Amino acid sequence: MAGIDRKFSAPKGISDALPHKAAVVAEATSFFSALASLYGYSPIETPLLEKTEVFERSVGDTSDIVTKQMYTFEDKGGDSLTLRPEGTAGVVRAFVEHEVYKAEALPWRVYYIGDMFRYERPQAGRYRQFKQVGAEALGAPEPEADVEQIEMCLEFLGGIGVASPKLVINSIGDSVCRPSYVAALGEFLASAKVHDRLCEECRQRSVRNPLRVLDCKKAECKKATEDSPRTLDFLCEPCRSHFEAVRAGLEAIKIEYRLDPRLVRGLDYYTRTAFEVISGGLEAAQDAVAGGGRYDGLVELFGGPPTPAVGFAVGVDRSLSAARLPESQVTTKRSLPPAVPSFAPGGFSPDVIVVEIDESARDAALLLASRIRREGLVAFVSPAGRSLKSQMKHADRAGAAAVAVLGPEELSRNEVAIRLMFEPDDYERKQVSIRLEDAGKAVREMLYGRSNEKGTTP
Ligand code: ATP
Ligand code: MG
Repeated sequence: MAGIDRKFSAPKGISDALPHKAAVVAEATSFFSALASLYGYSPIETPLLEKTEVFERSVGDTSDIVTKQMYTFEDKGGDSLTLRPEGTAGVVRAFVEHEVYKAEALPWRVYYIGDMFRYERPQAGRYRQFKQVGAEALGAPEPEADVEQIEMCLEFLGGIGVASPKLVINSIGDSVCRPSYVAALGEFLASAKVHDRLCEECRQRSVRNPLRVLDCKKAECKKATEDSPRTLDFLCEPCRSHFEAVRAGLEAIKIEYRLDPRLVRGLDYYTRTAFEVISGGLEAAQDAVAGGGRYDGLVELFGGPPTPAVGFAVGVDRSLSAARLPESQVTTKRSLPPAVPSFAPGGFSPDVIVVEIDESARDAALLLASRIRREGLVAFVSPAGRSLKSQMKHADRAGAAAVAVLGPEELSRNEVAIRLMFEPDDYERKQVSIRLEDAGKAVREMLYGRSNEKGTTP
C-alpha cells in the first residue's frame, strides 16, 4: 500500500491549540462569559459564513479587511460567501433580520466568543484564524454605554493578566461633522510635502479613503502624518458633548486613558467614540489587544431603524500572549472540588438596574453599578434621558429584581434609594435608602440574604 510521502500540516497562519493551550483559552472565554453576564449581556451565536455583501457593506469596501483580508468563495449554488473576519456585522445583520428592535427592550446587549478569519501575513500575534470575544449594545445612544463597555473590556484584560494594558481613546465624529474633517485631512495629505513621503498604498488611500492613512502601521506614514488635522477639532456640538461625558465617566470610575487624536480604527462603520487597548508586552505592530467604539449608523445601513450602538472585540490569542500566565497548570495546592456542575439552560435577568433621574447622577450611577457588580450581582446603568416612569417600565420589562434610583436629592445626602421590584414579606424592605459606599453589599444582602449563593468570594 502506498503511504503518504510527506506529513500534513495545518494551513499557513492557522494553528492547533493543543490541550495545554486549549485549556487556557477555554478558561479565558468562560471568564469572559461570566463577566459579560455581570454587565447584563446575553450570548449570541452568528454563522461563521455570511453573504459577502454583509462585510462589504459594513466593514467598508475600501477597508484593508475587505480589499485584502477576506476568505471569499463561491459556493456550489453560485452565491458569494465569506468566512467572517469580525463579529459585529453578523450581529447587526441578525438584529435587523429578526426585527429584534420590535420585540426586545433596548439596549440589546449581546456577547460572542468565536473564531475570525483574515488572510494576513502570518507573524507572531497575527494569524489567519484567531479567536475573539466581543460585546455589542444595540439601541444604546448614551455615553454610559461606552463607559461600561470600556470598563468590561479592561476588566477582562486585567482579569486574564495582560501586562500593562493601556487604553487609548478618540472621537471620530459622525455623519454631520466627519465630512469636513475628512476633507481637511484629504487636503493635508494631498500637499506635496506629505504626499511624497507616504507609502504607495497610502497615496491611493489618501484619495479613496483618507482616514485609512492614519491607521497605517508603517513608520514613514506615521511620521509623515504627525501634524495632520485632529478629529477633535472638527467635532460638532453633540459629538463633542458625548465625548466629554465618556471622558468624565471614565474618570469617575478611575479608568486611566490616553487621548490619541489619530486613532481612527480600521473599519469604516465607526462613529464618535473609538478606542483601543494596547499592551506593553507586545511588538508595536501587533500590540493592540482590543478595539471598539460606536457605530451609530450601521443598523440603518442594514435596513433597520436608526439604532445607535457600541461594541468591542478582544483578540484572545494576542491578549493571552501578552498575559502573565502560570508556567504550568500543575498545582500542588488542592482545594475541595466544586460540586458536579448541572445543566441549567435559560436566560437570566438583571439583579439591579441603576436609574439616573437626570444627567447630574451619571458619574455616580456608573460608579454604583460598578460597585454592585463587584459583589457578583448583575447590574448596569439604565440610560438617562428617559423619564423616571419609562425607566421603571424598562426595568420591569427586563425582569430586574431591584432598581437603584439616583437623583440630585439622593446625591446631596450621599445616598441611593433601592427599590425592590417584587413584594418582600416585610413591606418595610420594599424601598430603603442606603449610603452610597455601602450600597453594593447592602443590595446583595437585600436580594440574597447573607448566604454565599451568588458569591464570587466568601
Ligand atoms: P491590527 O491593527 O493589529 O491589525 P485590527 O484593528 O485589525 O488590529 P480589530 O479588527 O479591531 O483589529 O480586532 C480586534 C482585536 O482582534 C485586535 O485588537 C487584535 O487583538 C485581534 N486581531 C485582529 N486581527 C488579528 C489577527 N490576524 N490575528 C490575531 N489577532 C487579531
Ligand atoms: Mg488588522
